[in-house]
Amino acid sequence: MTKPLTSKSRREFIARTNEHLKSMKAGLVHELAAEFRPDNAGTGGGSLDTAELASMELEQNMTVILSKRDRDRIIEIDHALKRMAEANYGMCEACGFEITTERLKVMPFTRHCRDCKQDQEREAKTHYRGDDREQERSKGVGSSSAEDEINQQSK
Ligand SMILES: [Zn+2]
Repeated sequence: MTKPLTSKSRREFIARTNEHLKSMKAGLVHELAAEFRPDNAGTGGGSLDTAELASMELEQNMTVILSKRDRDRIIEIDHALKRMAEANYGMCEACGFEITTERLKVMPFTRHCRDCKQDQEREAKTHYRGDDREQERSKGVGSSSAEDEINQQSK
């Protein structure tokens, strides 16, 4: 009932982002599928299109074939697409207001407006125990430099 009206330009922006995320996801899955199944790499145009193949691969083999980082990315994309389908995309989960288009352009997966995110980060710093998920992510990015990153973070 209290949802703000969505302007036309906002809807167009979300539609464009939707297309962008879908192709991003298809690209990720396609890349990974090709990497793990070289037999199929040359036969590109089968009976399934990339999107269908992508969702099949995802359901059947996701936990096996995808690295954690790419899996996280695809899960983020899926969440964003789901929120778009439910018309919740771009709404802050904490305060319920629209996240600005500018912010969504930079961070299409964000679920919080800038204010709420800042509040959370302040909270996180207050309750910092040195074992949070941000560090998990850094580890995944490059295992060789992970220790350096952690050292820098814990300054
Ligand atoms: Zn908010």
